[in-house]
Amino acid sequence: MTKKRPRKSPEPCPKCGSLDIVPIFYGLPGGPEVMEAANQGKIALGGCCVTDHDPQKQCKVCGTQFDLRPPRVTERARREK
Ligand SMILES: [Zn+2]
Repeated sequence: MTKKRPRKSPEPCPKCGSLDIVPIFYGLPGGPEVMEAANQGKIALGGCCVTDHDPQKQCKVCGTQFDLRPPRVTERARREK
């Protein structure tokens, strides 16, 4: 048994079902590698404004962003604005 299986099964887009999914990169691009990957469509840039529940993946076909992280416990601090 030497068959290799990918650990993660690709997660299809919840909207169109496409498997053409790229991870969303948040924060300032750390270097030319990040920009290059973005230019090649390997990743999507999410900007430097990170919230508590940002989508982690983006569909390249329809642009839907999904795979939300569960909100953290910092919600209270926001309400006390
Ligand atoms: Zn899609």
